[in-house]
Amino acid sequence: MTPNSGTVEELERRCFAVFDGREETPPLSDLADGLLKRQKENWTGLSEGYAVLGAVRVREIRGDGWGVNVHFNPRRIMSSGANLDPESLRRRPCFLCPENLPPEQQAIRYRDDYLILCNPAPIFPAHWTIAHVRHFPQSLSDHLGIFLRLAADFGPRTTVFYNGPRCGASAPDHLHFQAAPAGLLPAEEEILNPRKRVGTRRWDGVEISRTAGLGRGILVIEGKEEGSVAAAAVEVIGALGRLTSSAGEPLLNILCARTGEGWRLILFPRRKHRPDAYFRKGGKRRLISPGAVDMGGIIITSREEDFLALTPDLVRGIFREVAFDDAAVDALLDAI
Ligand SMILES: [Zn+2]
Repeated sequence: MTPNSGTVEELERRCFAVFDGREETPPLSDLADGLLKRQKENWTGLSEGYAVLGAVRVREIRGDGWGVNVHFNPRRIMSSGANLDPESLRRRPCFLCPENLPPEQQAIRYRDDYLILCNPAPIFPAHWTIAHVRHFPQSLSDHLGIFLRLAADFGPRTTVFYNGPRCGASAPDHLHFQAAPAGLLPAEEEILNPRKRVGTRRWDGVEISRTAGLGRGILVIEGKEEGSVAAAAVEVIGALGRLTSSAGEPLLNILCARTGEGWRLILFPRRKHRPDAYFRKGGKRRLISPGAVDMGGIIITSREEDFLALTPDLVRGIFREVAFDDAAVDALLDAI
């Protein structure tokens, strides 16, 4: 897709570097690190975001066989408190459209159609958003190729992730992914435990298995051939859609990382986006709005009362409410 002429000038003005995948281009992770370093120096809003992150309080909560870290990060209120109904989205200027980015924001032009941007409300010591140059809705099945390519271009040091449009994306109307250093989410480590992995199926050179006893059901897809991994993921998303009778993309969050020669996708099928406690009034309200990061085991709270209130039982209850349990993921495996 070609951006319109106004946007072309906008993109040129913001361009920090270009990554087109040619051999002489520096590695993407080096370019992204360079962008972050530069933007911390020349964009006050970003350096403030990282200062807030540096002061984040963390609590560890352990369940039976799983663990999560709860972060108190007040800057995330923009995301956890966002109104995501179609009317609110239509009325707000989209914060991922090039013309609405903060004036100081620069970008890596990635494979023509995407901008790699520094996230001004970081959750991780390095946190990027990868947004399409055009404004159109989140949809993974149509863009799995670029999602896998992005993980491959970033390399094994980085995890790329995606939130479904009704399931954690704070700009569901503008296609985007996110990226952060690999290995910071507890689930990335937990799923490697062979005793927690069951039900392995092989599908055109791809291994699909589920986890057991991690508090929420997780599907893991691993393979070496880009086309087969993408096809397996499309198959899984299709089966999830049929199982949940979804109109549009079924509710899901997904992490993707390059592993040696292949890819590993960690998929969280979801029942709903926000738990009921999100909508309660007064002291019973819990402003927890789970996306890929929360399902991966870093639960973001933007208010101190929510940060202090969470217990193993509450986290277990939230997972039970918004995620598939192990039996439901087993049924999903059967439906593929
Ligand atoms: Zn937009």
